[in-house]
Amino acid sequence: MPESLSTDVLIVGGGVAGLWLNARLRRQGFATLLVDKGTLGGGQSVKSQGIIHGGTKYALSGALTGASEAIADMPRRWREALEGKGELDLSGVRLLSDAHYLWSPGTLAGNLTSFFASKAVRSRVGQVKGDELPPALQHPKFKGKVYRLSELVLDVPSLITRLAELAGDSLLAGRQVEPLLDGNELVGLRVDGREIRAQRIVFSAGGGTAELLASLGLQQPAMQRRPLHMVIVKAPTLKPLYAHCLGGGTKPRITVTSHPAADGEWVWYLGGDLAEVDGVARDEASQIAVAKKELAELVPWIDLSAAHWATLRIDRAEPAQSALARPDNAFLAEQGRLLVGWPTKLALSPDFSDRVEAALARDGIRPGQHPVLPELPRPPLTGPFWEGLLP
Ligand code: FAD
Repeated sequence: MPESLSTDVLIVGGGVAGLWLNARLRRQGFATLLVDKGTLGGGQSVKSQGIIHGGTKYALSGALTGASEAIADMPRRWREALEGKGELDLSGVRLLSDAHYLWSPGTLAGNLTSFFASKAVRSRVGQVKGDELPPALQHPKFKGKVYRLSELVLDVPSLITRLAELAGDSLLAGRQVEPLLDGNELVGLRVDGREIRAQRIVFSAGGGTAELLASLGLQQPAMQRRPLHMVIVKAPTLKPLYAHCLGGGTKPRITVTSHPAADGEWVWYLGGDLAEVDGVARDEASQIAVAKKELAELVPWIDLSAAHWATLRIDRAEPAQSALARPDNAFLAEQGRLLVGWPTKLALSPDFSDRVEAALARDGIRPGQHPVLPELPRPPLTGPFWEGLLP
């Protein structure tokens, strides 16, 4: 006899979106099970830059759009959670920076004029100088302008650890997911042979979602992958920097975040335009060469002669959009008991939960009675992404 379990909400995919949803539902008294086939957080989540965007950078394209308004509340919600006063208790999660910065290295007046044309931006952004500058930019040779954005940057490994704690006994390591049908109706999933019935099933498996849908014979909602080629550099001379460095366009030339290595040094993680289409086309050596040139131009006072370099290829998984445009909000589609989505940004995980909870409330789904769970194999936690890539 296969083991038979039941729960209110069965979640597949333990990145930050699935873990956040799981913790929120448990807090409301729902029974949940969260299945992951790899390491918790080991997909896109741990490889993200950990920026809790408030949408301000979208104003670089000239105006705050609907996207910016939807995301604008995320820094407040995360901040409250980090203080232990919000929708989840994330006290103990390491805040790497209380602000993200916008850094204009030269004379990009045109770009910044349109940026500051928006009143909403002016109220959220303040210029910083002197010893208020991020440590890496405090140097007599520094010439640019720096603006403080009301956004934060988190240490994602510590976030994942905390969300896994909040998951209690609801985690299940499982590789093979098959549909559990009653007639033609999907009533649950068979996970490595265990039959799990649930009132609702949520797929939040990032880049694995298309394959999961296929295992259920479904093609919708369609998913797209946006490849990135990130650069990692570690050196004793690096100090913390969390900033979008502006180029001429509407996307940052480089986005720098800094992450603590076990030996006390800082690891800079470089994304932005550097990691997009042209960067994706380069091999590792050429990508590193371009990154070296960029840093030599932007922060020539930092001695990187003893630095270690590496690159990381990773796809963003998102709902399919025309022309690979970036979607603006968390996305959720529904088919009967099945809910499928992508947060599209780690920062939007609370928005993803809102959408699932709204669907449950609309359908009158309430916590039910379920037998106590047996001891289940737990998926392991992921570690910092740069470990293993750098000495
Ligand atoms: P993931 O983190 O990808 O998790 C999916 C999980 O599902 C994994 O644990 C995987 O093991 C599991 N899984 C997959 N298939 C299966 C299966 N068949 N069965 C069971 N489990 C399965 N967003 C921001 O807000 N701020 C940033 O600064 C930021 N920077 C980024 C930088 C990079 C380089 C990238 C790639 C993304 C960045 N993002 C950022 C976007 C952000 O990382 C993602 O939107 C977010 O992490 C997605 O979370 P998720 O939980 O949906 O997916």
